[in-house]
Amino acid sequence: SSSGSGSSSFRRKPVIIIVVGMAGSGKTTLMHRLVCHTHLKDIRGYVVNLDPAVMTLPYAANIDVRDTVKYKEVMKQFNLGPNGGILTSLNLFATKFDEVISVIEKRADQLDYVLVDTPGQIEIFTWSASGAIITEAFASTFPTVVAYVVDTPRSEDPTTFMSNMLYACSILYKTRLPLILTFNKVDVAAHQFALEWMEDFEAFQTAASSDHSYSSTLTQSLSLVLDEFYNNLKSVGVSAVSGVGMEAFFNAVEASAEEYMETY
Ligand code: GDP
Ligand code: MG
Repeated sequence: SSSGSGSSSFRRKPVIIIVVGMAGSGKTTLMHRLVCHTHLKDIRGYVVNLDPAVMTLPYAANIDVRDTVKYKEVMKQFNLGPNGGILTSLNLFATKFDEVISVIEKRADQLDYVLVDTPGQIEIFTWSASGAIITEAFASTFPTVVAYVVDTPRSEDPTTFMSNMLYACSILYKTRLPLILTFNKVDVAAHQFALEWMEDFEAFQTAASSDHSYSSTLTQSLSLVLDEFYNNLKSVGVSAVSGVGMEAFFNAVEASAEEYMETY
C-alpha cells in the first residue's frame, strides 16, 4: 500500500488532476484539450468522468460514472429532480470509489496523469459528501492537485471576479490541496487584467468602485483574505478551444505535485 507512511514511500506518479469550476467555465472542453495534448506529447494519461448527467463527451473516458449509474433511472427510482438525481448518482458511485482507486493503482507504473472531469454544477462536487470522499480517496493515495477553471471573459466584471476567487479560495482551504487557477477562454479575453488585480489590490478596488453592489468596506476586508489566498496558488492562462497554454498548465501541475510531495 502507498498510503499513510510518509512522503519517502509515497508514489510520485500518477498525478491526479481534479478539474473543477463554475458551470460553463469550460471544464469538459478543457479536458478534451488536455487529453489531445497528452496524445500529442506522448504523455501517459488516464481519464475519469464524474459527471453523471453529461449527454456526450468530446473525449474518451477510461472510467465513466455513467457506465455504473444511470442518472435518469436514479431520478425515477428515488423520485428526484435533476440536481438530486446527479447528487445521488455521485453518492452511489462514491460508495464504490475504492474500486476506481485500485484500477488506477494497478496501472500506476504506466501512467503520468489522471484527468478527472466533475459535474457541470460546481457545488454538486465541492459541497457534497461524495465530492469530499472522492477527493480524499485520490489525495490519500496519489499526489493530487485541483485545477480551478475560470471563465476569463465573464470575470472581467469585478464582482464576478471576486465571487469566483472567493469560491476558489474556499475550495483551497477545504481540500488543502495545491490549486491552479486556470484562466480559460483567453482566445476571447486575455487574463492579464486578472493577474494585475491579484498583484495589486488597489487596482482591483479602483475597478470595483464603479460597482455599488459590494460595499467598499466589504471589498477591503475581503482583500486581506484574498491576498493570502493569491500567495498560495499558481495561475495560468489557457484556451481549451485554441490550445494555448497547455505547456504552462502542465508545468504548473508538476510544480503543484512537487508542493504536494513536500507537504503531505
Ligand atoms: P463545463 O460546464 O465547465 O464543462 O463547460 P463546457 O466545457 O461544456 O463549455 C461551456 C461552453 O464554453 C461551451 O460552449 C464551450 O464551447 C465554451 N468554451 C469552453 N472552453 C472555451 C475556450 O477556451 N474558448 C472559448 N471561446 N469557448 C470555450
Ligand atoms: Mg462539463
